[in-house]
Amino acid sequence: MMRGLMMDAPLMISGILRHAALNHGGREIVTRLPESGEIHRYGYRDAWKRSQQAAHALTKLGVAPGERVGTIAWNTHRHFELYYAVSGIESVIHTINPRLKPEQIAWIINHAEDKIVFFDTTFAPIVDGIAQHCPGVEKWVLMAGAEHKPEMKTEILTYEELIADEPDEFDWPVFDEHAAACLCYTSGTTGDPKGVLYSHRSTVLHAMSSIAPDVIGGGAEASILAVVPMFHVSAWGLPYGAPMAGAKLVMPGAQLDGASLYELIDGEDVTYMVGVPTVWLGVLDYLRKNEKRLDKVEKILSGGSALPEALLRAYEEGYGVTMQQGWGMTEMSPIGTIGTLKPNHDGLPQDEKVKIKLKQGLGVYGVELRVVSEDGKILPRDGKSSGHLQVRGPWIASQYFKRDSDDQFTDDGWFDTGDIAHLDDDGYMTITDRAKDVIKTGGEWISSIDLENAAMGHPDVAQAAAIGLPHPKWQERPLLVVVPKEGCSPTEQQIQDYIAEKCAKWWVPDAVEFVEELPLGATGKVLKTDLRERFKDYKLGEDKPKKARPETSAAPETDNGGEKRKKFLGIF
Ligand code: ADP
Repeated sequence: MMRGLMMDAPLMISGILRHAALNHGGREIVTRLPESGEIHRYGYRDAWKRSQQAAHALTKLGVAPGERVGTIAWNTHRHFELYYAVSGIESVIHTINPRLKPEQIAWIINHAEDKIVFFDTTFAPIVDGIAQHCPGVEKWVLMAGAEHKPEMKTEILTYEELIADEPDEFDWPVFDEHAAACLCYTSGTTGDPKGVLYSHRSTVLHAMSSIAPDVIGGGAEASILAVVPMFHVSAWGLPYGAPMAGAKLVMPGAQLDGASLYELIDGEDVTYMVGVPTVWLGVLDYLRKNEKRLDKVEKILSGGSALPEALLRAYEEGYGVTMQQGWGMTEMSPIGTIGTLKPNHDGLPQDEKVKIKLKQGLGVYGVELRVVSEDGKILPRDGKSSGHLQVRGPWIASQYFKRDSDDQFTDDGWFDTGDIAHLDDDGYMTITDRAKDVIKTGGEWISSIDLENAAMGHPDVAQAAAIGLPHPKWQERPLLVVVPKEGCSPTEQQIQDYIAEKCAKWWVPDAVEFVEELPLGATGKVLKTDLRERFKDYKLGEDKPKKARPETSAAPETDNGGEKRKKFLGIF
C-alpha cells in the first residue's frame, strides 16, 4: 500500500464545540429552563467556557476515562455542556430516558455502572425513588442553582455550585477516536433494555452527515428547534450538528405542549424543527385553534414512527412548510434514511410527490441498506419485494454494551433492524412494518402501518393502531383501535367503509374498537405489546365477532413530573 500523506487527526467531540466557539461564538443556544420556565440564552463561546468549567468539576469528582456519567434531563444548555464536558474528558455520558419506569431506570443506571448522575428539578421524585437502589452512584447532581434545590431525601449537589469557581479553560485530551463517548439504552419493550455505545468517531461522522442540506441541513442561518430529546439517541445528533454548522439551537426544556413550542417558534425565528409525529400533531392543533401561521419555518423533520399522510398534507398544504420524514433507530445514532424529493420529481402532481414523501426515504451517505428474505436471500430493489431490513455503516452498532452476542448482528457484518421494508431502484426505502407487528393473514401479510395511515385519513380519527388477533380460519385478522377526534363519534362501519376505499378489501379490519387514548412507550410510540395484551381475549370469528371487552385501561402514565409519576414511585 502506498500510504496517503495526510494528518492523522482523530475525530474528537470536543473539537466540535471548539470550532463553534471560535467561528460562531455569538450564535445562540436558547433554553426554556425546566426549573423556572424562564428563557436562558447565551452563545457557543459561553457554552464552550462553561463546558470547560464542568470538565474541571468532573475531574475533581474523580471521574476517570471510560467511566459513565448519567443524565436524567431535558434539552437544556446545561445538558449540552455536559455532553461536551463528559465525553471531552474521555468519559461516557449515559443519557437516561425519564419516561421509563423507575425500576427500569434503576436497572439501567446499575447496568451502566454510572458513577455520577445529573438530573433536572422535574425528575427529583424519580431520584428520590431510585437512589437507594443504585448503590454505585457516588453523587447525584441537580442541574440548577442552589436556589432551586427541591425538598429531597437524597443528598445532592447542584451543578451551578459545582462549576462556579472552576477555571474556564481546560486542556482537552486527544485520544483514540474509537473511544466510547455516549451510551443510550433502547426502550426495552421486548426484554431488558440494551445499551448502545457510541464512539467519538461515530458521533462526529454522524453529525457531519446530518448537516448535509438533504439530511437535516441548516447552516449558520438556521434556527433549529430540537424537540427530539437529548435523553434519547442524542436528540438525533443535533447538539453536535448544530454547533458544527453554527446554527442557532432552541431547546424547549420540559414544556413540549403546542403553546409553549409555538412561543419559541415565533420568538426565536425558528426555521427548522425536528421531532416525532405526535409533537407535530400537538403543534398543529394549537395552530388551528389559535389561527396562527408558521411564517419563518422552512422545514419540519419528522421521524421515530411513520409520518401520517394527513399530517404531512396539513403542514405542506396548509402552512407552506416542507415536511421531511426520517427513519432510524437507537442502534443507528439514529439517522438512516431521509425522505427527500429529487429534481426529476419537480413536475409531478402534488399527490405523486406526497406518495414519495411518505416513503421512509433515501439512505444517507454512510448507511448501506439491504433487504433480506426469510431464508437469507438478498432481495431485489424492485419497490415490492419486502423482507428484513439490514444496515451497516460507521455509526451503526456492532454489538450491545456488556452483551456478547445478539442475533440482530449477522455473521457477515450487518445489523438486522427488526423492520420489514422494501427498496426501489431509485434508492427509496419503505417500511411496511415492524417484524413483530406484521399481521399475518391466510399466508399473506397486512401492513399495520398502512392500515393505520389509511384510518388516520378519516376526518373523525385522531389516532389509530392496528394489531393482529388470532382468527380461527385466517390465523390472524386485524383489529383497529381508534382514538376519535374531540367531539366526534364515528361508527365501526364508517371506518371500515372508509378503509375499504383506500386498501385492498381483505385488509379491512374485522373490528374497530374506540378508546380514549393509546398506550405510549418511553419514546412516545404506541405500545402494541400493551394493546395485544389488552385485547388478548377479544374474539374475532368468521361471522359475528364476539367481543369480550376488558374492563381496565392498559394506557400507561406518560406524565413523568406529575401525580401519576409519584404514584408509580410508590413501588420503592
Ligand atoms: P428511536 O429511538 O429513534 O425512536 P428506536 O430504536 O426506539 O428509535 O426505534 C426504532 C424503530 O422506530 C425503527 O426500527 C422503526 O420501526 C421505527 N421508526 C423510526 N422512524 C420511523 C419512520 N419514519 N417510519 C416508520 N417507522 C419508524
